[in-house]
Order: sequence, then structure tokens, then C-alpha cells
Amino acid sequence: MRLGALEAGGTKMVCAIGNENGDILERVSIPTETPDITMPKIIEYFKDKEIEALGVGCFGPIDLNRKSETYGYITTTPKLAWRNYNIVGVLKEALGVPVGFDTDVNGSALGEATWGITKGLENSMYITVGTGIGAGIITNGKLLHGMLHPEAGHLLMVRHPKDTYEGKCPYHKSCFEGMAAGPAIEARWGKKGVELADKKEVWEMEAYYIGQALVDYIVTLSPQRIILGGGVMHQEHMMPLVREELKRQLAGYIQTKELEDIEHYVVLPSLNDNQGIMGALKLAMDEMEYEKQ
Ligand code: ADP
Ligand code: ZN
Repeated sequence: MRLGALEAGGTKMVCAIGNENGDILERVSIPTETPDITMPKIIEYFKDKEIEALGVGCFGPIDLNRKSETYGYITTTPKLAWRNYNIVGVLKEALGVPVGFDTDVNGSALGEATWGITKGLENSMYITVGTGIGAGIITNGKLLHGMLHPEAGHLLMVRHPKDTYEGKCPYHKSCFEGMAAGPAIEARWGKKGVELADKKEVWEMEAYYIGQALVDYIVTLSPQRIILGGGVMHQEHMMPLVREELKRQLAGYIQTKELEDIEHYVVLPSLNDNQGIMGALKLAMDEMEYEKQ
């Protein structure tokens, strides 16, 4: 089966062809400009590829409510040219195939849960700490959507006692994303994360915020495993610090065999940075099933 996958990001659109086993046969990357410029290039790529369905993991917020008139739209994004843009409608119309749609992080969560380190678990999370912070949540074997979709990067935070940085989120200032995403690290310390590798205080503070968020996710959602991805987690010393902070801030309140084996509980992604695009393949397959019903 030939399937299309689109990872629609704020800076680039990764388009790929794959199959039902999660194999990726080919891919290209197209810069994200305005829809007028970018969408025809995406359509051109997929047009003659004989795909049976397309899956799209998309930056957000997006409308995932099938009963809504704006289902399949990118909605209130700060990227103005893409605001209220009917991305699913345009792709469906141009390609004439089923188009599955979800958030980019839900795509990554789904890729890992189908072919990666959270396979077989009914409840798991994928959190990305990069330019923004987002979380994809699988609960009782399904991606969690609810009223809109989780925006778990905007958890409100208890400030680190030594942190005087006001925070970068335009809505909440000091939420998780506002305190701990890549741009917040850069604004607080005056340098990009990669240039701060040897600054212990930077990563201790970062781990404090990530650990705090994990406590909140664990007490609310009870995931069986948590994946931490995104550029900031490329700092190799982060993972041990995060695990330690998580244990410290949970303070022994929850005791499970999963938490005792914390190296296998809070983990890095397992699919060589293909989790998002592989998740989009699964979204394509799921949409074919949905349209059959
Ligand atoms: P995006 O979130 O845009 O898809 P990434 O997940 O790569 O992309 O995140 C980019 C952010 O992560 C930037 O703010 C960058 O400064 C930060 N970042 C990337 N690599 C590292 C690194 N090795 N150490 C610390 N921060 C990093
Ligand atoms: Zn926020």
C-alpha cells in the first residue's frame, strides 16, 4: 500500500511516501512560506505518486472536531498567513484521497505507539521541547482530542526560586513553554541552548521545569511511559537531570514498578527522528478505515 505523509511544521513541510509497515520510501522538505507558495509545491509532490491516502501531522492549533464547519482547518495560529486555513480541504480536493489529520505531536505520539518505544501501551505521552512545547497523549489506546486537543505545553508553572526571567509566552508569560522551550532558554541566558552546554545552572533550571511538568502529567493522565523529544533534549545531560527532578518533585507520592525503573519510564524517542512522519502514515491508514465505515 502506498501512503503519503506530511509533517507540516512552522519552518518546513516534510513530505514523504511510505507504506503500512511504516517504511519510508522517499521524502522531500519544502520551506513553509505562505499557503499560496507552499501548498502548490506540496500538491505537486504528491500528485503523481499514486497514494491511497495521506496523513497530516500539523502545527496548531487546528480544528479536529469532525462535526465543526471548520474541521481540518489550521485555526488561531500566530503564523498569520495560515490562520483559518483549510489545509485538509485543499489537499483532499487536489489529491482525491482520504486525508487523516492531527497535531504534529499527536503524530509523533502515534508513530512511537505504532512502531516504537510505546508500542503496546494503552497510555503514553510524547512531549517535544523545541521551538515550542507540545504533548501528544494516548489514552486507552487512542489519541486524546477532547474539546480541541491538548495544549499541554501551556501548563502554568511554579517558578524556580532563583529564576528572575519573566517568561516568553505571549499569553501566559511563565507557562511551561514560556519558561522552558528553546527560545525561553535563549532569552533567559542570552545564548542559544547549544552554546550553553557547559553551564550547569542552565540545565538544572531546565530540568526543574520539565520535571515539574512531568509530575503534573503523571498525576493527571497516569501514562505508562513518557517520551521526551525535541531539540532541547539533544543536550545529553538533560535526561538524567529530568529523571532526578521528576523523582524529587513527585516526592514518593506515587509508587509504581514503572517509576521504580525510571530509565525505561522517561525515555528519548526511538525512531531516529522519523516518529512524526511515521505517525502521519498511520494517520493516513486510520483515515482509510474511517472512510470505509
Ligand atoms: P522545532 O521545535 O522547531 O520543530 P527543534 O525540536 O529542533 O525544532 O527545536 C529547536 C529549538 O531547540 C531551538 O530553540 C534550539 O535552540 C533548541 N535546540 C536545538 N538543538 C539543541 C541542543 N543541542 N541543545 C539545546 N537546545 C537545542
Ligand atoms: Zn503559554
